[in-house]
Amino acid sequence: MKDYRFCPLCGAELGQRSVDGRVRLACSSELCDFVYWNNPVPVVAAIIELEGRVLLVRSAGWPAGMFGLVTGFLESGETPEEGVVREIREETGLSANEPRFLGCFSFHQANQLLLGFHVRASGILVLSDELEESRLVERERLKPWPFGTGVIVRSWLESSAKDAF
Ligand SMILES: [Zn+2]
Repeated sequence: MKDYRFCPLCGAELGQRSVDGRVRLACSSELCDFVYWNNPVPVVAAIIELEGRVLLVRSAGWPAGMFGLVTGFLESGETPEEGVVREIREETGLSANEPRFLGCFSFHQANQLLLGFHVRASGILVLSDELEESRLVERERLKPWPFGTGVIVRSWLESSAKDAF
């Protein structure tokens, strides 16, 4: 949880308060109802296939060797499908058609709800400033990492293995 100290509504200090049986960060003023719910944030994440290989990216500031899927927040009024296509274009310069929804995946450590998609993309790969590095990996060589977007990769590999039968 981020370190919020003051109420955004009235400016009083925030403190722990029991709300419906659960301890929450809430406004200390008795005149104010503000509760910091800390609900998970939806984040779109894409398994991007480019010329038969899967694109993994390393965000700026991530340790060397740490790669994940392209992810992004939704803009107000956007559907998840529109959001993932836009993020792919902004982050990688690639065009993606008909994103296929794979499911929702909890990423508790980041307080995110990942909306996983698979897309086939085309175009010239140009990374945005937010991305440091990319890798194209054959599907057979993908090793899903056990957290974050790795869980989407695992699910996709398992379901596409089933489809092959
Ligand atoms: Zn307040």
